[in-house]
Amino acid sequence: MTADEIAGHMKTGEFEFLDCRFLDFPGLWQNCTYTASEVDADRLAGGFGFDGSAIRGWQAINESDMLLVPDCDTARRDPFAERATLAVICDVRDPVTKKTYGRDPRAVAKKAQKHLEATGIADTAHFGPELEFFLFDRVRFDQTTNAAWYEVDSAEGVWNRGSDHPGNRGHQIPIRQGYFPCPPVDTMHDLRGEMAATMQSLGIRVECHHHEVATGGQQEIDLRFDALLPMADKCMFYKHVVKRVAANHGRVATFMAKPLLGDNGSGMHTHFSLWKDDEPVFAGRRYAGLSQLGLWAIGGILRHTPSLLAFCAPGTNSYKRLVPGFEAPVSLVYSSRNRSAAIRIPRYDDRPGSKRLEFRCPDPSANPYLAFSAILMAALDGIQNEIDPGDPVDLDLYDLEPERFAAIPRTPATLDEALSALDADRGYLLAGDVFPADLIDGWIAYKRQHEVDALRARPHPHEFEMYFHS
Ligand code: GLN
Ligand code: MG
Ligand code: MG
Ligand code: MG
Repeated sequence: MTADEIAGHMKTGEFEFLDCRFLDFPGLWQNCTYTASEVDADRLAGGFGFDGSAIRGWQAINESDMLLVPDCDTARRDPFAERATLAVICDVRDPVTKKTYGRDPRAVAKKAQKHLEATGIADTAHFGPELEFFLFDRVRFDQTTNAAWYEVDSAEGVWNRGSDHPGNRGHQIPIRQGYFPCPPVDTMHDLRGEMAATMQSLGIRVECHHHEVATGGQQEIDLRFDALLPMADKCMFYKHVVKRVAANHGRVATFMAKPLLGDNGSGMHTHFSLWKDDEPVFAGRRYAGLSQLGLWAIGGILRHTPSLLAFCAPGTNSYKRLVPGFEAPVSLVYSSRNRSAAIRIPRYDDRPGSKRLEFRCPDPSANPYLAFSAILMAALDGIQNEIDPGDPVDLDLYDLEPERFAAIPRTPATLDEALSALDADRGYLLAGDVFPADLIDGWIAYKRQHEVDALRARPHPHEFEMYFHS
């Protein structure tokens, strides 16, 4: 939509409200709703004021006034609002200088696209994320052990602990066999259908949906690839739709990386390719149908994975997913087959136009604008510096002799490690001022204080099991 179209809709009463959405630093949508009579072309161009100091990880209190400027292209009817509401994603600007705010994730995504074009390597980056998530019937937060704890209950039963969930539970998915039976064993089929259809109605093209491996209610809905900024915007609408449809059915959705011990976690495998003048830059005659540039891109991503993960696997919980045995990557190698490799080159379709990398480390708790931008920057660094990715590892990694296995570099073990890696290895992100130093410093400080240290200070329920009888 154009600004004039939005202003027109507000004037004619087609919409009663405009929801101005924007990203906080960790990547959750924030919202302020304006009445239609307050919205005209001037306001849409000039922006709406808000208090930036109240947003997690942002502006100091003495410079808190900021502006939300709608990106009118992103406007969509919110299908869940009871009153006619148009939702639009906004950029964040300084009211005095009118400059974009350096910690606004959308600003990073826009600069990453500009930087890509400036390198001359390609003009378009395609991203195809596979977001996985869990649907639970009930989550109970409990403070009795002096640490927040939860009890999840799923209609699928296996993780139910003494629940009074009504209904017949005859059709159950055996543990870790959720990939992917038909209904009635898959009880979430219709719910995913409603989610996928709602996404389609918002112009978000869905390729498929299915139950995922984990038995506690793990799901996946896959989107058709798109360019960096529109794909990150779509991820935000995706999460909105999943959460709202789940809530309308009395369920709760979570995109945290590892909610259940002993079952698969949720990944956001990210398929990635570069294009120049409509030609696929990664297609060629090297390993698995890749080009030399594609191999260098892999070299860049693998070299920078420890620091990349500060954005792509951004929570303390993310590292509970990145352990052996759950189809999550742990080894910093590439392969056309191996699913414990950080990068896989899918071989389902070997046509040049389908040639892409699948970076398997990201998880869906990531801020997609920062995660996709960082992946692009690492790939470009690999290409510009001709970083050799070494040989692929097509064997099952667990079949390797112990010395060879031990020599393979691993994903970081904790968020703290990834943040240290980001601190030390940030040069490739600073290029083109895509990630300003202030953003990187702010990210590390925010994550350490509010997540790493906050968790470290809390007694954990499992510590009672290990140490109570000391
Ligand atoms: N859930 C797995 C992960 O954490 C992926 C499983 C799959 O899609 N094959 O990455
Ligand atoms: Mg998938
Ligand atoms: Mg999957
Ligand atoms: Mg995948």
